[in-house]
Amino acid sequence: MSYDSVREIDPAAADALEGERDRQENTLAMIASENHVSEAVLEAQRSELTNKYAEGYPGERYYAGCEHADEIEELAIERARQLWGADHVNVQPHSGTQANMGVYLAMLEPGDRILSLELEHGGHLSHGHPANFTGQTYEVEQYEVDPETGYLDYEGLREQAEAFDPDIIVSGYSAYPREVEFDRIQAAADAVDAYHLADIAHITGLVAAGVHQSPVGVADFVTGSTHKTIRAGRGGIIMCDEEYVDDVDASVFPGAQGGPLMHNVAGKAVGFAEALEPEFEAYARRVIDNATALGDRLQEHGFSLVSGGTDNHLVLVDLRESHPDTPGGVAEEALEEVGIVLNKNTVPGETRSPFNPSGIRAGTPALTTRGFDEDACRRVADVIARVVDSPDDDEIAREAAAEVEALCADYPLYDGDAAITDVE
Ligand SMILES: *Cc1c(COP(=O)(O)O)cnc(C)c1O
Repeated sequence: MSYDSVREIDPAAADALEGERDRQENTLAMIASENHVSEAVLEAQRSELTNKYAEGYPGERYYAGCEHADEIEELAIERARQLWGADHVNVQPHSGTQANMGVYLAMLEPGDRILSLELEHGGHLSHGHPANFTGQTYEVEQYEVDPETGYLDYEGLREQAEAFDPDIIVSGYSAYPREVEFDRIQAAADAVDAYHLADIAHITGLVAAGVHQSPVGVADFVTGSTHKTIRAGRGGIIMCDEEYVDDVDASVFPGAQGGPLMHNVAGKAVGFAEALEPEFEAYARRVIDNATALGDRLQEHGFSLVSGGTDNHLVLVDLRESHPDTPGGVAEEALEEVGIVLNKNTVPGETRSPFNPSGIRAGTPALTTRGFDEDACRRVADVIARVVDSPDDDEIAREAAAEVEALCADYPLYDGDAAITDVE
């Protein structure tokens, strides 16, 4: 896609947009929440629907001229129902955080109780962090992963629920490398008569493809972001049983949002259509195989992984034992310098500050989209190991940057102007 029209009116903006396109093409996107959408999703997202007000829901809009907005939203809803097997889907939340807000507003009163995973253990700001409206509006208690194993402690969670008596238990995480047993969290919620919100932001694509157990039909509410593993462009989604439909829909609009971002709803419709193709299951499987290969190779290089490995799309590296003098922030910077873009991350039992924590998190969804296989992921692990072992060595940095360049050339993101997202 060119930015010629932007360039005519605003060269500075065109430079930034082209710069971002080049950055994505010439670096390895390993932030576990990121992905590359297809040309088709990009096209839908930049459509004229950005001009249209469509407050309300299909067939019940507040403004005239919504027939095509209705068509698009109905397509997005119908495909989401097929992908995840949900009774009811709201595709209007602007992002995953707004999806969670929609559920809280629908079901909780200020002062009600949320039980959720600690941010430092892999939770999310929108699950009750003091800096987020959830932490300021509700009474929050948090659970932790087992510091020894890095796995969720389902028995401990159940006991904690019995002591705290929450109104809602939140599951679903940002930095948890293992399969989530949603049925066991549901059992803890049932024991104290609490709602269960399963926030599958990161693993929407894995759940849709059937390669991770699904909370749909188990938890009362399932929320997600649509730009992560499901690859449908920026946005959010809420799924729930029929009994909660009216409350959830009313809390998204008019409760928390105005006009829906209909161009992004169009991106969701198209991205969901792609995910219904049989190739998407192969993609999701390969995401997991690639993360496993990446993690295994890092372990061979002496790195420790939280929980000792991965079941999903990400690995969480704890640098404290293997690299006591290299905090996550230093590793992140040295890797960015050579074209590997991932993030520093807290680890369970964190002993440093959240601004320069002890871990790094690395995911494979975006690399898999551009065609990486397990061998290519092992090559990436080799580069990560060399750079993190010697973050100040200029010669190693030069060699690593050359290897990243070679990988980007072997697995191009664009073929001419079009994004490549087909996994054969
Ligand atoms: C990414 C994420 C979200 C939503 O984030 P948005 O940026 O608002 O889409 C919510 N919950 C979890 C666990 C996440 O990882």
